[in-house]
Amino acid sequence: MAQPLAREVVEEIAKQYGVCIRPVPLRRQDILIGQVEVIDVPCGATLESKCPPCAKRNRQLRRAQCREGWHLEAEPVNLPDNPDEYQRHLVELRADAQAWRDEVEKAGGDTTDLDAAIVELDEEINRAGMRGNVLGRTSGKRSRSTKRRQDAPDLPKRQMTKTTLGRTFTGSDGKVYRPSMFITLTLPSYGRVLEGAPIDPDRYDYARAARDALHFSKLVDRFVQNLRRVAGYDVQYFATVEPQKRLAPHLHMAIRGTLPRAELRQIIAATYHQVWWPSTDHVRFEGDCLPVWEDGAGYLDPITGEVLPTWDQALDQLDQDEDAQPLHVLRFGDQLDIQSVLAGTPDADQLIQYLSKYLTKSLGDALGTDDLRRKAHAERLLEALRFEPCSPTCPNWLRYGVQPKGAKPGMAPGRCRGKAHKPDHLGYAGRRVLVSRKWSNKTLTEHKQDRRTWVLEALGLPDEPVDPHRYVWRPVKPGDPELAPIGVRLLRSVHERQRWRNHMNQLQALGDGPNLSATEARAA
Ligand SMILES: [Zn+2]
Ligand SMILES: [Zn+2]
Repeated sequence: MAQPLAREVVEEIAKQYGVCIRPVPLRRQDILIGQVEVIDVPCGATLESKCPPCAKRNRQLRRAQCREGWHLEAEPVNLPDNPDEYQRHLVELRADAQAWRDEVEKAGGDTTDLDAAIVELDEEINRAGMRGNVLGRTSGKRSRSTKRRQDAPDLPKRQMTKTTLGRTFTGSDGKVYRPSMFITLTLPSYGRVLEGAPIDPDRYDYARAARDALHFSKLVDRFVQNLRRVAGYDVQYFATVEPQKRLAPHLHMAIRGTLPRAELRQIIAATYHQVWWPSTDHVRFEGDCLPVWEDGAGYLDPITGEVLPTWDQALDQLDQDEDAQPLHVLRFGDQLDIQSVLAGTPDADQLIQYLSKYLTKSLGDALGTDDLRRKAHAERLLEALRFEPCSPTCPNWLRYGVQPKGAKPGMAPGRCRGKAHKPDHLGYAGRRVLVSRKWSNKTLTEHKQDRRTWVLEALGLPDEPVDPHRYVWRPVKPGDPELAPIGVRLLRSVHERQRWRNHMNQLQALGDGPNLSATEARAA
């Protein structure tokens, strides 16, 4: 069937039909009736996706989500806090993912993708309202000495009210206005740049750029805390983190409600984040002289045989040291933009488009360009990130004489597999879309569900809630005899999509279908 068509041609057709071009095959066992099928799951539904149709669909969903909450007129209904079906489903998926990962590792395969999926699942589980992670590594928050606690910056503080809604204003004509804000925040300058690359690379502060990128999401958290404290209400936001041309992350944020500009500037200027991690001033081990692992003891100094301090011990030392300084302090740069937006105006719509415009652009795209200056710039930043610890579990801590949190054999400085060190991320490994909990009444999963429900209704099929316990999912290894060639699988999906579309067109022609724009019909 796919024989006469080259892979690229099939991919083009698939793209035209909005069909995922990198589907992930999973073997699904229906435990009710025992049936086993290989199902193609769209890549965008599992991992970070570079597949154009999935990227487009994700962008559309994000836009819908952003629009939904920006100018909300009534308080969102709070979700119950007790674990529900969804959470249980996530935990089971997490257990499966762990099992697959271990299987792949045993077979000597590359576990990078599965590791990333596990991290994402843990985050999702946390966001779904469960504390800690499923392996129970919740050793409790460390209590720091008062001196080290992040001080609240000197800012005016309003009495907190419980609302998440912004104020409204009534014009002289009696019309009610619901203003909100759109802000863009950047990091400071590390040296002058021209067309996305430093004019003088030797004087560009790569070390600072690397650390700022690594801890950027913490700075954003601080900003939101300060914003809420000053605003005096439970400010909600929808934000995206995107790469600037100079390869530093920056932030676009839609904020529900409004504050005086001067106050907002004051908050931005006063916001900072201190990284209280052990010092990396002195390189203790490098080259052939690296810490060695000993079962039952951990990592040892290769010369003296002394056991290196564990992560917790290193933090305790830091707490007891009166003269200790934070490893790094981040602040925002002077470049910022604040706009006022009114609900339902073309401006609001345009900004929503803008927010999601670069979501699929990776920070590391510059590495692939023909622009040699930018390419060299990206390479230097990558090099600066190589030995920079990205997290408490980063193997790079060994270079500075500290055992990483959760140390295990086989770790070596400069060989961390964390996202932050990768060319696609250039230091920023956090989420690209940040949405506060009470932004809208819906989670992204529910927005997806909305679309699904609509399609099924359009087709006249009942939208039965899927029991997450009904199916057991297993990975399908490449070369599995049951796995059809990718060309055949793509064409099957195109055919399926075509059938749906025809059916919907018929319904609409009959006047039975819901009224949809062409974009919405395509997205479904
Ligand atoms: Zn895809
Ligand atoms: Zn790392």
